[in-house]
Amino acid sequence: MAEEVFDPASRIQDYLVFGEFGDVNPSITDSSTYTFTSAEKMEELFDHEIEGCFLYSRHWNPTNKYLAQALARMEDSESAQVMASGMSAISSAILQLCRTGDEIISSHTIYGGTYALFKNFLPRLGIKVNFVDLTDLDAVRGAVTKDTKVVYCETMSNPLLEIADIPSLSALAREHGLKLVVDNTFSPMIVSPIRLGADVVVHSMTKFINGTSDCVAGCVCASNELVHQLTDINEGASMLLGGVLDSTRAASILKNLHSLHLRMKQHSSNADFLAEGLRSLGLKVYYPGFEDHPQYELLRSMMNPGFGFGGMLALDVGDAGTANKLMKLMQDMKVGYLAVSLGYFKTLFSAPGHSTSSEIPIEERMEIGLSEGLVRFSVGLDNDMTHSLERIKECLKEVSII
Ligand code: PLP
Repeated sequence: MAEEVFDPASRIQDYLVFGEFGDVNPSITDSSTYTFTSAEKMEELFDHEIEGCFLYSRHWNPTNKYLAQALARMEDSESAQVMASGMSAISSAILQLCRTGDEIISSHTIYGGTYALFKNFLPRLGIKVNFVDLTDLDAVRGAVTKDTKVVYCETMSNPLLEIADIPSLSALAREHGLKLVVDNTFSPMIVSPIRLGADVVVHSMTKFINGTSDCVAGCVCASNELVHQLTDINEGASMLLGGVLDSTRAASILKNLHSLHLRMKQHSSNADFLAEGLRSLGLKVYYPGFEDHPQYELLRSMMNPGFGFGGMLALDVGDAGTANKLMKLMQDMKVGYLAVSLGYFKTLFSAPGHSTSSEIPIEERMEIGLSEGLVRFSVGLDNDMTHSLERIKECLKEVSII
């Protein structure tokens, strides 16, 4: 029998919510607290969750539930929790899974904020992170100790776009009784890590999922058990650290989620065009859709069909001075914005060595090949990419790169 093709877009398409009055966009929860018909009912809810019953919006609220359910459908997880930022999703998931004395295995080539959390903050709580090359499975295996609890990776690493071998990391994690946590921020819909064996998926919804760069938000997609633990009123990291999403934002993100499949296709085809165009000029380009990208076949084997290779690419122009001049020119020429972040409808570019990866010490950046002249592009939804490429070429000529 042919293997079922998982289509996250159809999972969102089939998600219909009828609001209080049949509203197609259900009313936004405008309350932090909820009434009870009896004190006994309230007591019962403190003891265990009751379907359709709400206590306090930091615990759960109806709007957040709608968005969480949609995200769980997209990632094919049993459940999800929506958080106030990607970092809040990452820190809550990690702190739920680890305690003092535990260890995590991760990589240097992760988002700088996550790296800083792992390198500087978690040790204050007695949690140690071993950074290894996650594309080297023997190195990962070698880093497992009796205290390891979590392997943490990004599907597409930031900013060098290395691809994590999720099925192999998952097999390794299972073999040693560890949890595999995957940050899927760069590749929503493209890759479904839980279907490939991951235990937990985290997202910065600030990026592609929301797509309008008007808020920060995050989510944790996981088993019912982990989401119950996160929201537990006595021990839950989301409940007790309190970084849950505001319902107004949850409502707007849910609306944007319904166009994510179209946006991902357009981001991907524009990035493909730009990556090919820049490489044809003899430039050093990092892009996972190149057939000679070291993990091209791996990515193809993990991808859901139809969404492309994602909207991210990186261009190495050699040194920081040239990168800075180029980015300023590209902004002046209306290619997009000189700004951090990604997944916006406009093209965004920044030099990770001096921004989103600056938390990683320079020696470590050199070791992993993160050049000072690297310019990361989050390619926007431009209707005419030919025109955008021509403008970029003008800028490259101006800085004598071509
Ligand atoms: N994960 C990745 C891959 C990111 O790029 C970022 C932010 O840039 C985050 C997590 C953190 O997300 P947020 O800024 O929403 O807290």
